[in-house]
Amino acid sequence: MEQINIRGVNFHNVTLDEAAAWVADTLAAVPDTPRVVFTPNAEIVQLCLEQPEYYPLVNSADLIIPDGIGVVKASRILDTPLKCKVAGIDLGERTLAIAAEHGYSVYFLGAKPGVAEQAAARMTEKYPTLTVAGTHDGYFKKEGEENEAALAAIRAAHPDVLYVCLGVPAQEKWINANREALAGVKLCLALGGSLDVWAGNVKRAPKLFIKLGLEWFYRLCCEPWRLRRMMKLPKFLFGTYAAKWNS
Ligand code: UDP
Repeated sequence: MEQINIRGVNFHNVTLDEAAAWVADTLAAVPDTPRVVFTPNAEIVQLCLEQPEYYPLVNSADLIIPDGIGVVKASRILDTPLKCKVAGIDLGERTLAIAAEHGYSVYFLGAKPGVAEQAAARMTEKYPTLTVAGTHDGYFKKEGEENEAALAAIRAAHPDVLYVCLGVPAQEKWINANREALAGVKLCLALGGSLDVWAGNVKRAPKLFIKLGLEWFYRLCCEPWRLRRMMKLPKFLFGTYAAKWNS
């Protein structure tokens, strides 16, 4: 798969269908240690630009999809266009469908207590052949005894796919730190707030907003506390124009 470097992050230039095909192939290939999917948006690329020590972490995944219109816009500004935005939550749901069809089990890790269970209930209703091998909330210490207990719970459930939904960059750090300890899991996806959406607690933007590339605006209206984080987006785009003019 072609990779395109956008301001230091090596995005895969894939459509949602191509990313889903990669997931299906990866699950069929039975890797020794989990293959990893990260879904960076412009905010995360900006985080890397401001704190370059994050580059190796963000670039360590096996599949890196552009989960944001800001990254796609930047790719066009830099004359190295990515095909399209691929929302992490969409690939997450396609992966649920693949798991349901082929009998792979999944595990939901993350979000507030009760949310992962609620997401599991709603997604098994939608995909009746889906096996959710277990759930665990995301509010545990990410080292020491509590972390060991979470890892033990995951290992005991023997999931094929692990959804890690702890927010950025905690989920990427956690996957990297525990990749070896998760041998047996075939695929780990870092998917931010997906469990809140699947549980029915947070709504995704209406299709028109998504089509117009305004999902971020809808999210901002619903969750205004995101404004400070979202200010990274204009900063990222201005910086991208500056990088282009200086090249
Ligand atoms: N979260 C968690 N553990 C923590 C902090 C956050 O499980 O210690 C969860 C939080 O409840 C939410 C998700 O991580 O479900 C982050 O969602 P957000 O939409 O902010 O994702 P991001 O934009 O960071 O990808």
